[in-house]
Formats: sequence, C-alpha cells, structure tokens
Amino acid sequence: MFFELSEEQRMMKDAAGRFARERIGPIQEEDEKKGVFRREVVSEMGKLGFLGGVIPEEYGGTNIGFLSSIVIMEEIAKVSASYASHLASQAVGPGLALLKYGSEIQKRNYVPGLVAGDLIGCFAVTEPDAGSDVASMKTVATKNEKGFLLNGTKTWITNAPVADVGLIFAYTDMNLKHHGISCFVVQMKQTPGITTSHIEKLGLCCTETGEIFFEDVQLPPDALLGNLGGGYKLLMEMLGNTRLFMAARALGVGGACLEASLDYAKKRRQFGQSISKFQMIQDQIAEMCIEHEASKLLVYQAALNKDNGRSTPVEVSVAKYFACEAAAKAADMALRIYSSYGFSMDFPIQRYIRDSRAFTITEGTSNIHKVIIARHLLDL
Ligand SMILES: Cc1cc2nc3c(=O)[nH]c(=O)nc-3n(C[C@H](O)[C@H](O)[C@H](O)COP(=O)(O)OP(=O)(O)OC[C@H]3O[C@@H](n4cnc5c(N)ncnc54)[C@H](O)[C@@H]3O)c2cc1C
Repeated sequence: MFFELSEEQRMMKDAAGRFARERIGPIQEEDEKKGVFRREVVSEMGKLGFLGGVIPEEYGGTNIGFLSSIVIMEEIAKVSASYASHLASQAVGPGLALLKYGSEIQKRNYVPGLVAGDLIGCFAVTEPDAGSDVASMKTVATKNEKGFLLNGTKTWITNAPVADVGLIFAYTDMNLKHHGISCFVVQMKQTPGITTSHIEKLGLCCTETGEIFFEDVQLPPDALLGNLGGGYKLLMEMLGNTRLFMAARALGVGGACLEASLDYAKKRRQFGQSISKFQMIQDQIAEMCIEHEASKLLVYQAALNKDNGRSTPVEVSVAKYFACEAAAKAADMALRIYSSYGFSMDFPIQRYIRDSRAFTITEGTSNIHKVIIARHLLDL
C-alpha cells in the first residue's frame, strides 16, 4: 500500500504468488492435515529461481537481491508458511554461509544444489538443553587423525529427517565458550552414525522437523566450514539473514489474515446487515492493516539495507520481533472475525493461528529479540 516496488520486483511477486496459489494452494490444506512434505515442490521453486535470489549467477542463483527475495518469501508464505521456510533453509541460510566461508570445492559441491532445490538443506544449532542459550550446547567435534569425531544431539531442526546437507554447530574446544564453537558442513545421508527422528508439531505441518543424533560420526578435515572456533560468528551472520526471512514469512501470513478477514467481513451478515458495518469489526480490520503495513516497512527497509550493505543486526531484530508478533495477533483477530467458522478445520484461519505461533519462537524468541534491541540501545 505504502511501499513502491520496482517493475522487476512486482513481476517476481506476481510469479511467486501465482505459483503458490496454483501449485501449493490446492494441496496445502489436505497435506497439512496428513503432515505431508513434498520434496518436488522445493525443487520446482528452485527451478523457477525462487530459492537463489541472494546467490550470484555463477553458483546457480539469480542475484536479484534481498528485497526481491523477501517479496517472493512473503507471497509463498501467504499460501504456505511451510513451503516458504525453504527460502531460508536452502540458500539464504546454508547457501550464503557456504559462499562466504566455504572453500571453492565446498561452494561448488553444495550451493548450486541448494539453489536448484536438488539438495535439501538444514542448519542445526538447538539441542535438548540449549535453545536461546546457544553456548550451552553439548555437541562436540573432537579432532583426530582422520578429521573430527562428532557426537551429540540436535533437536527442533527444520528438515532434519529429509536433509541432504547440514551446517552442524559443535564445540571443538568447550573451554573457549563462544570462541570454541565450529561449524561443519555434513552430508546427512551418506555419513555413517547419523540418525534422525520426526517431531509432531502444532503447525507448519508441511515441513519436516526433527532431532538429529550424531554417534561417533567421522568427518573429514574438509568438513570444517570457515575457521576452527569461528562457528559462533558464522552463526550470528547467518541468523542475521534468516531472521529477516522469518519476518517476511510472518508478513505473508499477516497479509493472508487481513485478506481473509476483509473478504469474510464483507460477506457475513448478522442483524440484517454486513458485519463490516459494525465499528468493532472495523476497529479490528484497521488495526490489522496498520500493523501489517508497519511490519512491511520494517522488513522491506531492513532488506533494502542488506542490498545496500548498510544492514545492522538490531534493525533485523526490530523487524523480526514486530512482524512475528503482528502475524500472531492478526491470526487471533481473524479468528475473532470469523468466529465459529474460524474455529473450523474447513477454513485456513486455524492454520494461520498454528503456523504464526512458531514465528515468535524460531530464529530467536521475541524475548531474545527484545534483549538484543535493549542491549544495543543501552550499550551493554
Ligand atoms: C518450528 C520450529 C523450527 C525450528 N527450526 C530450527 C532449526 O532449523 N535449527 C535450529 O537450530 N533450531 C530450530 N528451532 C529451535 C528454535 O530456534 C528454538 O526453539 C529457539 O531458539 C528457542 O529455544 P527453546 O525453544 O529451547 O526455548 P528456551 O531458550 O528454553 O526459552 C524458554 C523461554 O524462556 C525465554 N528466555 C530464554 N532466555 C531468555 C533471556 N535471556 N531473557 C528473557 N527470556 C528468555 C524464552 O523467550 C522462552 O519464552 C526451531 C523451532 C521451531 C519451533
């Protein structure tokens, strides 16, 4: 409404929206109920250039930049917050980290496959006892004559049961705390000692999420990504990108809630008139619109700054916090407007509610983003 996209960005938005509505829309609700993830949808998104917007052409990307990719993410998320997650777990997360920190062989081996959707990616930080407090992770990679021996358990990992390649964070020296964490690029299917399990979730049921168990997993020396002990810095940089895409995902769901509420408010009649005539409904609609547009400005501005090389972690936290909270609130308001029909499994409102709850948890909880913002403001 208030933000003018370029002609090229509008074309990308239209193409992504059309794909989401025509390809994912018809399967979304049934697959959601059964918890079906379709690998081929990721591959199709890759072939259409949706996954590689921040990746240079020589590695299979389209190099259209952050803002254009964010707009694609938003459009996919409007229809499916599940499938939208792949923009982050393929190229924006592991892909960009590999590009910046990888050897030429690591880049060539993985980045084009992640961009094309031929390889499914994941990144694994969280552990049963280490969520927000990343440094309390227990997974260790011990140096030996053949490389590194990896032992530990990761949990809540998006794509864990289906991933081909993972960025795995582990201590190589626990005494050094944050400076003792390293990142490894791991072939998830071919490497002996790796097993996974599936986690049943409240929402986002068309993505796989699970645990990963590493039992005496022998990694070659060249599995190390970047420097020994450089994993925490790499992780923070990666989250600086993926968090913004989480905000864009929330923007998509917030937009879907607003559109659905407008449609329903105009159609539904009570007391002999459209419910849109009631001021309390108008208040809810106006509030959803205000928060959606404010989210959009924050997310797009942060994306533009990334394209211009002026991005700061705090502006990403502000955008992530606001857009994710706004989406959860929009889903709640949509339920109030739809009322009993919103409580039905036949309408997507219940899915928006379930999916949006994840946004305020993943990639840093809302509390953690407030901590980041306050620490920045207070020079702590
Ligand atoms: C759908 C989904 C997908 C996910 N995908 C991935 C993935 O691909 N890779 C991965 O590594 N992880 C993933 N995660 C894990 C996610 O990143 C963590 O859940 C998140 O970091 C929070 O950790 P936790 O759930 O253990 O909560 P905890 O850290 O245990 O927090 C519990 C509560 O305490 C609060 N809290 C904690 N510390 C503070 C503090 N310092 N100040 C104030 N409040 C605090 C939190 O805000 C929260 O309310 C995923 C999670 C979900 C739900």
